[in-house]
Order: sequence, then C-alpha cells, then structure tokens
Amino acid sequence: MSRPVLIFDMDGVLVDVTESYRETIAQTVERFTGVKATRAEIQECKNAGGWNDDWRLSHHLVTRAGVDVPFEDVKAYFQEIFRGDGTDGLMLREQWVARPGVLETLSANFRFAVFTGRPREEAELTLARFAPDLVFDPIVAMEDTVNRKPAPDGLILCKGRACAEPAAVYYIGDTVDDARAARAAGVPFIGIAAPSNPAYLDLVFLFQGEGACAIIDDINYLPEVVTQ
Ligand SMILES: [Mg+2]
Repeated sequence: MSRPVLIFDMDGVLVDVTESYRETIAQTVERFTGVKATRAEIQECKNAGGWNDDWRLSHHLVTRAGVDVPFEDVKAYFQEIFRGDGTDGLMLREQWVARPGVLETLSANFRFAVFTGRPREEAELTLARFAPDLVFDPIVAMEDTVNRKPAPDGLILCKGRACAEPAAVYYIGDTVDDARAARAAGVPFIGIAAPSNPAYLDLVFLFQGEGACAIIDDINYLPEVVTQ
C-alpha cells in the first residue's frame, strides 16, 4: 500500500472563511435586500444541505427575502466584492488554519489532495499564497464535475486520480454536504466542527448521523485522529 491520502475540503477546513466567503454572502444579501444575512442564518442553510455553492446560497437568501433579482446579478456583485481589484477584496481576509509545521509533519506519512466547490483559480491562488511548499495533488475544483456536493462525483474523481494503487483515503470537510459526499463515495469522513460555529451541536449530530469516523475542532488536531 502506498502512503494514505488526506483529501481536504478548502473552506472551513484548510482556510477560515468567516471573514471572507461568509462575510461576502452577508454583504451581498445586504446589497440587494438592505439587510445583512446573519452568520446563524448562513450556517442553518449549510446545515440543511444543498447550499455548498455560495453564489446560489446568496441568491437564495435574497429571493427568500422577497427580492426578485437574476442569479447572474447576485453572482457578479459577490465576485466584485470577494475578488476586488486584487488588493482590497474580502478574499484577502481568509486565514490559513494550520499552525506552522502541522501539515509539513503530516506530509511525511500522508499525501494531500483537495476536493473543493471553489473555482479552480480561487483554490490555486489560496494554496499558492499560504502553502507554496506543500503538494496537493490532485486538486478537484468546481469546473471538474457536473454534479456538485453532496454528489460524490468529485470525491470519486479525486480518489481515483490520487490512488494509482490501493491506499487508505480520508475526506476532511466542514459541512453535512461534505459528509454525505464522503458516505456516498465510501470514503471515511473526518468532520471539522468549530465550537465557535453558531450551530455547533447541530453540526456534530449531523456528522455523527452520516457516520463520521472522527469530529475535531480544526485540522491542527488531525495528527491525533489519522493513523498511517
Ligand atoms: Mg467547506
């Protein structure tokens, strides 16, 4: 058997997006409805499942508030404030979660890959910014599959590309859609549930219901739950 593979989701796992993607959703909803979406409201949708795509979630929250706006307008505003001109976008507020050395030490015994709902460019920009010396291969992004999470397609593709020969694989995610994708793909799931999450206990119960093999506060605890 070759080295086991840790397949990471990005947002809420490798990267803390509380002040980037989540803030962008809140501000996008405010732009069209006059009222900011709350963090609890956003998390409730994530826990309900089916809202992995933040553009669609933003549009959903706008239309739910009774405002009829085309999806493309919501997406365009979202991207405008998220990306900015490259120097002022909310994207720059994202934080790398791993403490120095944690992933570097793990990489001696594990290979890394990424399966994310992000557009490929946004995934690669972040990895290059925070972890230029770590190898994540393959990176399966939004463009690589037709059926998005909770469909298992992207995870099956990622596992297939990572494992030319049999190897143990884990998927590490922070939403119930991640857990459902893992279960459908037959990949053991490690759930990330931050105690600061507005629906922390609900999320823990959802992960347990989907058969998570471990639930941890953040990826710095991975060395305690993955065995080679
Ligand atoms: Mg995520």
